[in-house]
Amino acid sequence: MSDCIFCKIVDGEIPSEKVYEDDKVVAFNDVNPQSPVHILVIPKRHISSVKEIDDDNSHLVSHIHLVINKIAKDKGLYEKGFRIVNNCGEDGGQTVNHLHYHLLGGRQLKWPPG
Ligand code: 5GP
Ligand code: ZN
Repeated sequence: MSDCIFCKIVDGEIPSEKVYEDDKVVAFNDVNPQSPVHILVIPKRHISSVKEIDDDNSHLVSHIHLVINKIAKDKGLYEKGFRIVNNCGEDGGQTVNHLHYHLLGGRQLKWPPG
């Protein structure tokens, strides 16, 4: 989508610190990190939110999980653990309407969220 900042990151129109890329997904450092490691993993294809996951695109979600495990190992999070977050819609706190999973780690994270 032309006005989507994450589509622009996929296209390279907006710079980002990429940590992983393949034909289906891109992962890059969050510009406003909430933990020592805070990476966003997104499909290259524009999907607005988890509400749009269906039979045609759900393979991307399983692929994202494989990529998250790889990045967690690469970033040294695997032994101590990490958190995967998806915010959906207004009450969920979603601010960018392109599907993304937050990978957070590198410190003890609190629960429950605010
Ligand atoms: P949400 O609130 O939608 O779950 O998460 C959006 C995330 O995108 C936020 O953590 C925010 O810091 C991050 N973000 C927003 N704009 C940019 C950007 O231009 N570059 C990067 N790297 N992260 C961004
Ligand atoms: Zn997009």
